[in-house]
Amino acid sequence: MKITDAKVFVGGPGKNYVTLKIETDQGVYGLGDATLNNRETLPAAYLKDYLIPNLIGMDPRNSEDIWQFFYRGAYFRRGPIAMAAFGAIDMALWDIKGKLARMPVYQLLGGKSREGALTYAHATGADLPDLIESVASYVEQGYKAVRVQCGIPGMPSASYAVPEQPSAGQEYITDFSGIKPKTEIWETERYMRFMPDALAEVRAHFGPELNILHDVHHRLSPREAASFAKAVEPVGLYWLEDPTPAEDQNALKMIRQHSTTPIAIGEVFNSIWDCNKLIENELIDFIRIAVTYAGGITHSKRIVDLAGLHHVRTGFHGAPSHSPISMAAQAHLNVWAPNFGIQEYLVLGTPECAALFPSEHEMRGGMFFVSDAPGLGVDFDEGEAARYSYKPGSHPVVRLQDGTVWNY
Ligand SMILES: [Mg+2]
Repeated sequence: MKITDAKVFVGGPGKNYVTLKIETDQGVYGLGDATLNNRETLPAAYLKDYLIPNLIGMDPRNSEDIWQFFYRGAYFRRGPIAMAAFGAIDMALWDIKGKLARMPVYQLLGGKSREGALTYAHATGADLPDLIESVASYVEQGYKAVRVQCGIPGMPSASYAVPEQPSAGQEYITDFSGIKPKTEIWETERYMRFMPDALAEVRAHFGPELNILHDVHHRLSPREAASFAKAVEPVGLYWLEDPTPAEDQNALKMIRQHSTTPIAIGEVFNSIWDCNKLIENELIDFIRIAVTYAGGITHSKRIVDLAGLHHVRTGFHGAPSHSPISMAAQAHLNVWAPNFGIQEYLVLGTPECAALFPSEHEMRGGMFFVSDAPGLGVDFDEGEAARYSYKPGSHPVVRLQDGTVWNY
């Protein structure tokens, strides 16, 4: 069996999804997602210029060897661009494998450990009443877990993931007005004074059953993060996400020494070498990798298995920049993984998105149920794809009041 062709598509409704389609001499094809938010053309170029010319003629069933060929075969390894490109190939090969076996991918991983996967939504408010209204709307839809982000009184611009005005909805999804980013102002002191009380108010309003998550988005120093994690202990968070910049695996030690608040980190990691120390030293509770830029199912499964040895559960990244293909790949891992925790779920559930990526997977009552279709269970309509093309976009860049650039 041989790979005969592979094509890359960039574009989509409200997002620049990078979709890979691998074709074979037996008529079976596989799909992968290489979307790297706001840098989408780069994994697409890596695929087209370097990987696909090598892929043609390979046996698609040898997904492990193909992964090693591209990873070990390159002198300059790792990094989000390369790993997103490898990830898309790997997902597509597992899709082909499942279709050949006439089994959903979760069966090839070891079958189901659970029927559905717990997911969380994003509630956001310009102020506290706006946030409580947003949380209530998700609770009404049946969500049992919600990430909460709130505007900070006195901060001169909206903080991470919150709108400028009440009821304006989420405004943090990519700004497509151009490649030059807007500026967001950040003040750690105001955040540290306001947010623990805001989280306590949300807990008091919704009671003990709701799983409440909060994302610091890499904004604090280790000492500040330790103090914050201790301050929010009475809230009983499901997790505190990305408290410190993710490059420094040592930073988590100080948080652990001072607090029992569960810590989640890793959405910017792309290799087991970015998190092995964190996991082995049991400094985190949830690993947030994404199957897209952590090298696909093959490499993500290695990270999940290492995490399982150290009481670390999964909480895969699920921002709107993940296409339904990578979300399906994660869904198959989620129903299998013995150490599954929760899944972030923010796929743009629009009719346009469903037309581009037809599937039978189902979101119901805050849970994701994976279909029994062979492979990943998601298709890709090339006719629909022809309607879309790449649009330059950006995230905001963060500065302190005095102009110093800070962590997004
Ligand atoms: Mg996050």
